[in-house]
Amino acid sequence: MLAGPDRQNGSMNNGISAWLRCYRCWSRNLEVQVHYDAIRRVDPETAMPAEGEGVDEIQESVVQCLDCMHDQPHLTFDRDRVVPIEDRWERMIAGTPWVASCTVTVEAEQIEACSGPEAVEFLTYGSFGDPGTREFFTHVRFHKHREDQITIHLLVELYARSAEEASEVLAEAARGALEITSLAEESRPPAHASDDAH
Ligand SMILES: [Zn+2]
Repeated sequence: MLAGPDRQNGSMNNGISAWLRCYRCWSRNLEVQVHYDAIRRVDPETAMPAEGEGVDEIQESVVQCLDCMHDQPHLTFDRDRVVPIEDRWERMIAGTPWVASCTVTVEAEQIEACSGPEAVEFLTYGSFGDPGTREFFTHVRFHKHREDQITIHLLVELYARSAEEASEVLAEAARGALEITSLAEESRPPAHASDDAH
């Protein structure tokens, strides 16, 4: 059983190593890309932006594994450090990949566009919202219109500790009626070699 960072009194580092690792290969060799958005008053005498005025807002941050190059959707950057996403990290670190073949049926108006260069993105977001685009590996196979509804046929890979949990996570993320036609456990990518200390 993995210990959460908050329950690990006096052993802070053990707590961190539970979640500060790649969910796919368990490597701790990570980097964070942070994009800031800053607004500064321009000094009329020097033409330089004033310092210390207003706080730089973090616009976007992505944690990535340097060993397998995958993004880490269970980690985020908060002020000055990387933190785990509480309702996600245990499942992703302790889980294995599951591949679901499924359909999501949504109202047509939920999909901004179903053709053109951004169609796949809109169909993915329309099916599974943020998790569909950020956490899952989502592959849209095709979609069908029927009256005011669109049924999207997808292949989804997500991490979970059991078939039940995988179904729950999919059901929670689905933005319409979900039908899972098959769900199969895949083997986890091999753990990173230099990372046996547990
Ligand atoms: Zn990795």
